[in-house]
Amino acid sequence: MVSTGSTNESFEYAPAPESRGIVDIKASYGLFIDGKFVDGRGEAFKSVNPATEEVLAEVSEANEADVDAAVKAARKAQRGWARMPGAERAKYLFRIARIIQERSREIAVLESIDNGKPIKESRDVDIPLAAAYFFYYAGWADKLEYSGFGSTPLGVAGQVIPWNFPFLMLSWKIAPALACGNTVVLKPAETTPLTALLFAEICQQADLPPGVVNILTGAGSTGQALVSHPDVDKVAFTGSTAVGRAIAQSVAGSEKRVTLELGGKAANIVFDDAPIDQAVEGIVNGIFFNQGHVCCAGSRLLVQESVAEDVLERLKRRMGTLRLGDPLDKNTDVGAINSAAQLSRIRELSAVGEEEGAERWSAPCELPSNGFWFPPTLFTGVSQAHRIAREEIFGPVLSVLTFRTPAEAVAKANNSPYGLSAGIWTEKGSRILQVASELRAGVIWANTFNKFDPTSPFGGYKESGYGREGGRHGLEAYLR
Ligand code: NAP
Ligand code: MG
Repeated sequence: MVSTGSTNESFEYAPAPESRGIVDIKASYGLFIDGKFVDGRGEAFKSVNPATEEVLAEVSEANEADVDAAVKAARKAQRGWARMPGAERAKYLFRIARIIQERSREIAVLESIDNGKPIKESRDVDIPLAAAYFFYYAGWADKLEYSGFGSTPLGVAGQVIPWNFPFLMLSWKIAPALACGNTVVLKPAETTPLTALLFAEICQQADLPPGVVNILTGAGSTGQALVSHPDVDKVAFTGSTAVGRAIAQSVAGSEKRVTLELGGKAANIVFDDAPIDQAVEGIVNGIFFNQGHVCCAGSRLLVQESVAEDVLERLKRRMGTLRLGDPLDKNTDVGAINSAAQLSRIRELSAVGEEEGAERWSAPCELPSNGFWFPPTLFTGVSQAHRIAREEIFGPVLSVLTFRTPAEAVAKANNSPYGLSAGIWTEKGSRILQVASELRAGVIWANTFNKFDPTSPFGGYKESGYGREGGRHGLEAYLR
């Protein structure tokens, strides 16, 4: 399970697994409606550990009647929640944030078990950030009149989130909605429902008034029933562009407000004056963080021709030291692919890359025999027309393209239906400002990548969606 250095060195790491004893996974879970867990009326489904294929729990599926019950509960709770002074609502959000901190190890372990992501990421990134979003929006709850977006809540928010950052995406959705006086019905992804259900317990622990947060597990049809429910005032969706488009069509002509956070195909642009070793770390972080299951992943490396050979050599050497394996091992850099379905999408698009004539190189590492795995991989000889350069792969696969001039770098970076994020690596501050001003991307990092902060708005251009989450701007989606 341990990948060894590909060059002269060869490391063996003693396993350092985080104990899963801290987590109490129940055999079956109900839906969280009106402050209580109730059985769903749909067919129960199973959530598995993608690193082992072990069945973790049976989870209820919410059908239309359950969606209706949850929306009614949210509606009933909304008036009281909105009338509560902002400073009082803030107390609940601060309390939730503190409980997340107190239970962070438990949440992180559960997240890694259900999702497949390395424990060092869930422990150091996902869960601390989730707490930070609750702290941040708690601070806004009594200052909404200074937001610039009004201070009246929209009402009931129907929120649908994907499986790549289950708990973090939940916090991005729920914290601003509640701070503004809305109540929510949230549907987590089918393959990663468990931390959302743990969040439901946290709501109980925080004594949140019943109905303010409702969690409905289920698959796409549950999501569809939720976003099309006539008494939902606001739809917030994070997921694929295809589903986002369907949702936009289904709510067109209604009074519903919509925000969509969709896919991406970010360019990570390395200029010849960049500090190469730092850039290599940024490239690795950009595409292999969370197995590349990141909407803003730096999946297209644009490297200046004069340094391309050097960068690629160092990148391959670095990729050879990534440790792939047990997500609960604290040494692990690359965990499991979230589902069999996602693994087959990654394999399919990678095969297309080879058919189209790009050259594939995968880090030499042993893949565990159970579970869903894909080695850190890069493609060279990629042209802009190739599907691996255009389509989101949502996996640990990097396409490498080269450029000669800054203008060419910008043109190539913008040659994408997406516009979520981008990275720039250069020593020149003036070049950062120039290139950033020409890139059509919602978030641009310079000499770093994949940095998130609750004070900073996040969102895309073009087919990456519309609306912003995070920061003061994130309040706009929940106020009128
Ligand atoms: P997805 O298939 O669109 O699913 C997202 C969520 O929508 C899931 O909860 C899904 O339920 C649900 N859903 C499916 N069909 C639906 C429908 N017709 N109506 C309402 N809800 C429906 O996307 P995914 O494959 O899980 O996630 C990967 C995608 O999310 C990538 O494209 C990625 O770029 C994008 N993403 C974007 C951001 C961002 O902030 N821009 C962040 C993270 C991910 P099931 O899970 O049960 O299918
Ligand atoms: Mg799972």
